[in-house]
Amino acid sequence: MSIPEKEMAKLARTCRNLRRLPLKCAVGVDIKAECFKVGKSVISAPCLEGFGAWSCDKYEPTPREDVERQWGPVFAAADALIDRMAEGKCGHCGAEIQERVQQGHCVYAQPCGHRLGTA
Ligand SMILES: [Zn+2]
Repeated sequence: MSIPEKEMAKLARTCRNLRRLPLKCAVGVDIKAECFKVGKSVISAPCLEGFGAWSCDKYEPTPREDVERQWGPVFAAADALIDRMAEGKCGHCGAEIQERVQQGHCVYAQPCGHRLGTA
């Protein structure tokens, strides 16, 4: 499975030096301090999708091959989950759903017990 072009473009604009959790720069830019210095939020940092309230001289877009390697398995897993659900199976484990049981607002597949969603 390949990453949809819209998502690929968005992820490729993200700086390759960004480490997401915790939000950190691999080449030492203090993201939070730089953002707050110009009175903006971390959300407007240039490392996120290449746009921001300030420019960063360390910004480098992420090569598409790196995006594919990092995010390809995530998109493939999401597609597999959707395919299983379309076949009437549990999206998480692929087990046949024999019964859907509502507990509170949540609906669970039986017999595997995985949460299917909310009612
Ligand atoms: Zn399951």
